[in-house]
Amino acid sequence: MSISPNDPVTPLPDGLILAIDIGGTKMAIGLVDDDGNVLAADRTPSPANQLGDAMWDALNRLADRVLATAGNPELAGVGVGCAGPMIWPEGIVSPTNIVGWRDFPLRRLLEQRFPGVPVRLHNDAICMAIAENWKGAAQGHQNALGMVVSTGVGGGLISDGRLINGGFGNAGHIGHIVIDPDGPACRCGGRGCLEAIARGPATSAWAVEEGWSPLEPGDPANAETLAKDARAGDLVAIEAYRRAGSAVGVGLASVAALLDLDIAVVGGGLSQAGELLMGPVRLAFAEHAGMTFVKRMKIERAQLDQEAGVVGAAALFADGGRYWNA
Ligand SMILES: [Zn+2]
Repeated sequence: MSISPNDPVTPLPDGLILAIDIGGTKMAIGLVDDDGNVLAADRTPSPANQLGDAMWDALNRLADRVLATAGNPELAGVGVGCAGPMIWPEGIVSPTNIVGWRDFPLRRLLEQRFPGVPVRLHNDAICMAIAENWKGAAQGHQNALGMVVSTGVGGGLISDGRLINGGFGNAGHIGHIVIDPDGPACRCGGRGCLEAIARGPATSAWAVEEGWSPLEPGDPANAETLAKDARAGDLVAIEAYRRAGSAVGVGLASVAALLDLDIAVVGGGLSQAGELLMGPVRLAFAEHAGMTFVKRMKIERAQLDQEAGVVGAAALFADGGRYWNA
């Protein structure tokens, strides 16, 4: 649901959550009710220069526009999902992919911008996970992992029905569990991390090294083109997705053993390739899951992909705070 500047005002009730999803390439803001319905929403590209002030101004303009079109309802809360790393729950963010924000006090600034309204902020991958647990593929499960396989690999954990934060809000970082001790260097500083093997740019780069180039001249050599070419039967492209999916499946077997999970939900750009990724994920998981309680974990694709960021930001206020134990 997108708003154009000429849309008439549609008054919305008081008591909604202003839900903000901030990324390096785009920002999305929605007004979300208690049941997770997105009643109004809009998005904007993030400023290309990513300067700190420009990002903040763009965020405020977008919020103003969404609120004005809804008749400026009184808010029950402001929920934010933002790329990490961050100091949590203080909400001081230094997103890897937003160069203009380093130690940027996002939560405090939003509290000043919306006086008297509670502001809650968490990692975007955690917001994806709680969105899927609240309203998506992991609904009804007490023990769930939500993960994204995209430019990066991230995730969030629900255990015994509660979001697991860890000491600084970073629990669930499945992208940096080690899959191959001798594997490629990871941009986190480690080596052989799941992200270093399975993230989109690593997957397409591996294919290029193995001799793949886009079948359609002019297509970018990225994970999306790779999926298209795999569907067209390119063997290197198929193998590249198999390699990424296998790494995810191996990681999931370890996580399932550690946490006795009911379900893992996989979203993000690479999951859009469907069975090209998910088939190898399930196969590798089956090969490495030994014990009955590990084998029982279901693996599903995410349901909310497009809306997950906004719904997850609102979920920080859901159900009396089951996803907010700060
Ligand atoms: Zn890493």
